[in-house]
Amino acid sequence: MQLNTRYGQFGGCYAPESLMPILTEIERGFIAIEQDESFQLEFKRLLKDYAGRETPITYIQNLSNKYGANIYLKREDLLHGGAHKTNNTIGQMLLAKYLGKKRVIAETGAGQHGVATAMTGAMLGLQVEIYMGAVDIARQKPNVERMKLFGAKVHSVSSGSATLKDAINDAMRDWITNAEDTYYCFGTAAGPHPFPALVRYFQEIIGKEARAQMLKLTRALPDAVIACVGGGSNAIGIFSGFLSDEKVAIYGAEPAGKGLETGEHAATMNKGEIGVFHGMQSLFLQDKDGQIKEPYSISAGLDYPGIGPEHVYLQESKRVSYLTITDDEAIAAFEELSKKEGIIPAFESAHALALAFQLAQSQLKGKTILVNLSGRGDKDLQSYFRYKGLSDE
Ligand SMILES: *Cc1c(COP(=O)(O)O)cnc(C)c1O
Repeated sequence: MQLNTRYGQFGGCYAPESLMPILTEIERGFIAIEQDESFQLEFKRLLKDYAGRETPITYIQNLSNKYGANIYLKREDLLHGGAHKTNNTIGQMLLAKYLGKKRVIAETGAGQHGVATAMTGAMLGLQVEIYMGAVDIARQKPNVERMKLFGAKVHSVSSGSATLKDAINDAMRDWITNAEDTYYCFGTAAGPHPFPALVRYFQEIIGKEARAQMLKLTRALPDAVIACVGGGSNAIGIFSGFLSDEKVAIYGAEPAGKGLETGEHAATMNKGEIGVFHGMQSLFLQDKDGQIKEPYSISAGLDYPGIGPEHVYLQESKRVSYLTITDDEAIAAFEELSKKEGIIPAFESAHALALAFQLAQSQLKGKTILVNLSGRGDKDLQSYFRYKGLSDE
């Protein structure tokens, strides 16, 4: 297998000298497991029997009628754990065991990746420690409780802005000190090589399934595929199934928060500048001195100041268009899917839906659109009622 270390000029491996041997070890492990039949069987077995793959495709009749296009959802919200993240944690943590590691660390922002890592660690018998910003710990209590119930240790990070990027810094520090017995389970298709390629690999199952399912259901490929982009893992997972089908248009939806003009957004693809951070060359939201800016989105899972390098390449090469969706537009889509189809989407996934509804009324009128419903929205109910002013918190 030939591994991509770069996507055009993006990606690479900008890591401290002391981490290079361990990144090389992971790369070698990745190449080995790709050929290892018993690893592949175990990965497939767990995806099926533990996580519940394959996930279905749902045609949403009511909203298709309303918006004038045929809209299908790939239901990653039905995966165990409630989102696509489980594909990645099962894959990487099986790799951790394959490499003989006993301890797994991870960073988390909203807590979704922390919960997926803790959950999978409980199942695979690995010791899990999660780094999380103190501010996020206060905002995301139910996720912190879930991680603890799964037996993980949660480290509160109070340096810097006490959010995701500070948690990543501390997790990196832990890793440098304990690399011998510790595996770092990265949460999205970003970071230093080999993580963007590795996470993509474990998420490709979404695109593989979806392509075959659409061919079976509709006897054709969809005209367009749409996914939300935070770091880019669910998006690259579903996109990978269609990138070589030139006729399939592909769109990413990124968070415009309160509006691009307000500065309160996480629209890295549209507003980011080239830089090096978290081990990769990519686009980042930066101030004029090149310092990383705090991103904002109502959807905590999209609230990352960078983006996986392959997406920057796909934008540059014009294969994928990355458009923006505001908080208000995402919330409207969240309400509509709940009220008209009986499905509560994650706020993240609601960005992809909102973009689908917009395009269904313009360039994709009458077309077949496949949306990746990356996760379920139960976790967002409190934020929803707060946003609507219907909560006393
Ligand atoms: C974490 C998360 C995302 C964003 O992460 P990506 O790596 O961009 O996929 C999107 N949707 C849901 C439901 C999530 O939990």
